[in-house]
Amino acid sequence: MKLKLNYSRENIGKPILSDIILRTGIPINILEAKIEPNTGEMLIDVPTEGERLKEFSSLLQRAGVTVKEITRTIEIDRGKCITCGACVSPCPVKALAQDENWDIIFYEEKCIGCGICVYTCPVNAIRML
Ligand code: SF4
Ligand code: SF4
Repeated sequence: MKLKLNYSRENIGKPILSDIILRTGIPINILEAKIEPNTGEMLIDVPTEGERLKEFSSLLQRAGVTVKEITRTIEIDRGKCITCGACVSPCPVKALAQDENWDIIFYEEKCIGCGICVYTCPVNAIRML
C-alpha cells in the first residue's frame, strides 16, 4: 500500500519513520520525498496490509504525521491512445514515459493517483480506476 505522509515543521528532523520501522519490523520503500524548511512530504510503499498496515499508519499518526492512503490508479486504453505524449511531462512523479516507439509506459508503482494525466489526454484514453 502506498501512503502519502505530511510532516509538520515540528516533526521534520525527527527519526519518526525509522523508529516505526524498527518497532514494527516492516521495511518500506521511499518513492518520493520533498523536505522544505516548514513542511515535508513523502510517498512511501509499505509492503503489508490489514492489521499490520493499520498499526504502521496509526503509529505515524500518533507521532503527528498526517497519513493518506493512495488507492487510486489509472488505466490507459491502448486502442484509443495516439501516443502524443501529452500525459508524460505533467505527471508529477514520472509514472508515465514513452519508449523508443513512442508507446506509453506506465510505472504503476510510482503513480500517486493524482488524476492530472486524465485531464491532459486529448482523446480520453486514460481513466481513473
Ligand atoms: S494519475 Fe497522476 S501520478 Fe498517476 S500517472 Fe497520472 S499524472 Fe502520474
Ligand atoms: S495523452 Fe493520451 S493519447 Fe497522448 S500519449 Fe498519453 S494516453 Fe496516449
